[in-house]
Formats: sequence, structure tokens, C-alpha cells
Amino acid sequence: MISSLVLVVEDDEDIASLLERYLARAGYRTTKASTGLAALAQVLRLQPDLILLDIGLPDIDGFDVLTKVRANSAVPVIFLSAMDDSMDKLLGLKLGADDYVTKPFNPQEVVARVGAVLKRTKGVAATEVIRHDEIEVQLDSHIAAVSTEKGRVELPLTATEFRLLVCLLRSPYKTFERTSLLDACLPESDALDRTIDTHIANLRRKLAERGQEGYITTVRGIGYRFARSTGA
Ligand code: CA
Repeated sequence: MISSLVLVVEDDEDIASLLERYLARAGYRTTKASTGLAALAQVLRLQPDLILLDIGLPDIDGFDVLTKVRANSAVPVIFLSAMDDSMDKLLGLKLGADDYVTKPFNPQEVVARVGAVLKRTKGVAATEVIRHDEIEVQLDSHIAAVSTEKGRVELPLTATEFRLLVCLLRSPYKTFERTSLLDACLPESDALDRTIDTHIANLRRKLAERGQEGYITTVRGIGYRFARSTGA
């Protein structure tokens, strides 16, 4: 099996080299880019399995890079954030990042996060399909789709959103607490409970954009349930 390719986007040469060294030692193939535009070119050319993305870059910033990447790719992204600022973290997740690491970081922790994100992106059981009404997820191919009048339309979900949808779909009508959803979707993360709200909001929006509205019901004071709200 070919090892996963990690794209390191970082303009600080020392940090980039350090990360590449640790990733290589853990068995990953690596490539790097020191500007946002170089990163976008690399994503198209090499189709990496995961991107480590610095936010402060010399040309376009990491948020812009992620937005452009997300226009046509669900590749897992972990932000490398210089500012320990929860607004940045939430903005990053809203744009579709799968995790974040705050600088200064322990390179071994970054490698562990890379492994965790890749595992939950790829490590789902093969050839299983879960359906609920018009919504369908294929676990082996990592595709989520909805049936519409015009046919089947894929949902462009991040790895975390996909995990969240799978978790909810496996037990429709069950009320999940935020913490249990967080454990299911971001098991190695120290993210706050409310980051799940951001992922849920994104998932709802993507479903609604494809005509599937009202599917995820908020259960006040507890969490969420996958069921169509009665519209009350
Ligand atoms: Ca930087």
C-alpha cells in the first residue's frame, strides 16, 4: 500500500522542514509549499491525502486557500494556527477544516493528529451503505448523496461532517449529546462542545442547499437528533 501524501503549507522554512522530518519518520510521503498559490497548484497536481495548512502565508492566507480547495475537493485539512484564538478556530472549522493545531506545537502531536484525521477519513468499514429517506452514505467510497427530482446529487462534505452524518444516520431518531457526537467525530481533539454546533450548522446548510431541509433537529439542552422536524 502506498503511504499517504501530506502537503505541508508553511512559509517558515524551519517549521516546514521539522514537520516533514517527523512525518517522514512516521512513514508518510511529504511535499511542501511556502505560499498559498503554490499550495493550490500542488493540490491540483499531486492530489495529497491531507493538507497541513498554515494560516499566515505571504500571499493569500490559509483561510482563502481552504475556501478555494473546498470548491472542488474534500481533502482533509488541519490548520496550523499561530494565534490561540477561539474565533480563528471556529472560523477554520466553519470553512471546512477537519482539525487545528496551535503554534507553538509539538511535532509529534501534529503527526498524531494527521494519523487520526486520515484514519477517520479512510478507516470506515468497506461496502456499507446507510440510507434514510432521500439521504444515502456509502462508507467505502466516502460519498454522501441525496436523491432529488433531478436525480442523485452528491454532498460535498468534509471528513468531519461525513463522520457526523454517519453517526447520526446509524441511529435515526436517537438524541445525541454534544459530547458524544464530538467523541464520535473528533475523538482526539480537545475542541469545545460548541464546535459541534458549527459542524451541524454546516451539515444542515449543505443538506438544505440540496433541498433536504429540517433534517437535523435540535434537542434543547441536550444535543441533536436525526429526524425531520415536524415544522412546529
Ligand atoms: Ca506563517
